[in-house]
Amino acid sequence: MPQSSQPIIKTENLSVVYNKGTTNEFWALRDINIAIYPKEYIIFFGPSGCGKSTLLNGISGLETNISGKVIVGGKELSGLSEDEISDFHRSGVGMIFQQYNLISSLSVLDNIALPQIFLGVGKKERTQKVKILLERFGILEQAQKIPTELSGGQQQRIGVARSLVNDPKILLADEPIGNLDSVSAVNVMDILRKLNVEEGKTLILVTHNPEYLFYANRIFYMKDGEIVREVVNKELRPKEVVKEEAVEKKESTEEKLSKEFQVLLRSFPGLSPMQLNMLLIPFKSKMLVNYVLSPYEVDEISRMEQIVSDRLNGRTDRDEMKTKLDRDYSKGGAGLNSRTAERIANIIEDFLNKTKLVNEKKITRESGGKIKENYPDFSSIWSQITELRRGFIDPMHKILSDRQIMRLESAIYSRLTGDLNKDAFNEALDRSFSKGGVGFNKATAKKITNDMEMILLLVYGAK
Ligand code: ADP
Repeated sequence: MPQSSQPIIKTENLSVVYNKGTTNEFWALRDINIAIYPKEYIIFFGPSGCGKSTLLNGISGLETNISGKVIVGGKELSGLSEDEISDFHRSGVGMIFQQYNLISSLSVLDNIALPQIFLGVGKKERTQKVKILLERFGILEQAQKIPTELSGGQQQRIGVARSLVNDPKILLADEPIGNLDSVSAVNVMDILRKLNVEEGKTLILVTHNPEYLFYANRIFYMKDGEIVREVVNKELRPKEVVKEEAVEKKESTEEKLSKEFQVLLRSFPGLSPMQLNMLLIPFKSKMLVNYVLSPYEVDEISRMEQIVSDRLNGRTDRDEMKTKLDRDYSKGGAGLNSRTAERIANIIEDFLNKTKLVNEKKITRESGGKIKENYPDFSSIWSQITELRRGFIDPMHKILSDRQIMRLESAIYSRLTGDLNKDAFNEALDRSFSKGGVGFNKATAKKITNDMEMILLLVYGAK
């Protein structure tokens, strides 16, 4: 098997939990399983705080607060001695940081040479090596200056040169262009790309900036400590990686399936394949129903949730929400087509309007340490209830008699105050008019009941 076909970095259920077991418990990373192959260019992408740096630090062995496994070059990091870890940091990986992390009292030349000094390389040899790098990155003339005399772009080029001086196979870059103007940023990104393409460095870069995603072979999108999406830039992938991964993926699906079967076999010894199949049917039907009912993938749904959550928090207005729903996934949107985005935005906005209507009349008070919410009597909330009722009925083009309207409005009020629970409300709407109900058919009663529950949920705790 060619050497490049084995992952150079692999994580198995890598998690990082801070303050475990306390009320402040926080999962900065949760069960990360990734495999990165030699010569790949990988980007960890996501909003600030989603765990990108934690993941990078986990891979580099800088984050010690981990569970699960990190395997680099076939060796598990937690199994290495202190000396081996130091070796790994000196010459296994090169690290590039947003703040450059240069030593301001040392010259540019010495900053770059530092990792060589740690390796015990003699002065002549290391100076020669550093000069080649300085020349290559166009900063040879600055060799004797101190870093703060240089521009940001130049300082970052020193950072890159330093990461390379011991010739590591892996480069890790944490927001390397976060502090740079756009011209310097492109310059540094081009240098990094060349190191990957021309020198075969495995490059892992962290960024929250979508502008540079197209450079990478693969992008892992992160959210709340998890990888929620992986995008493969097929044209850019090294061929042997694609081939090998196809085999890997197949194996792992088979493994998963056979695991499931094995659990069943162990739990129910002596089952025939047919009986086993019977046991698997609930699982299979669940997957099938999900597939049939939801046209969206899990990560698309979670992106939509984020967009809606911004709207509920008041961080965006209706039009911004619609634009984001419509925007391409790779540009931070939900990737819906514009008609669907419009439709969903309308539904959500309609709910928010209805919620606002009843919220205005809600009385919130604290009693015995608990927040209680209730409503004034019917007469003072009458016009809001009427508007709510019209909001339910008008779009259905239904004409109701005055007495049906009265019964429906009274049921709405009773549901708001909690005098009717969900089932009783549904029943009041569904019951025939002659028996004291509103007299809707089942489907209408169910639709209004579900809408009403959604409003109650949205109203709850909202200001
Ligand atoms: P990113 O690089 O995506 O901006 P980080 O990996 O730096 O995110 O951080 C992930 C989350 O972990 C953040 O919410 C951060 O506040 C939290 N975090 C980082 N270090 C600690 C710590 N020592 N204790 C508690 N939370 C932490």
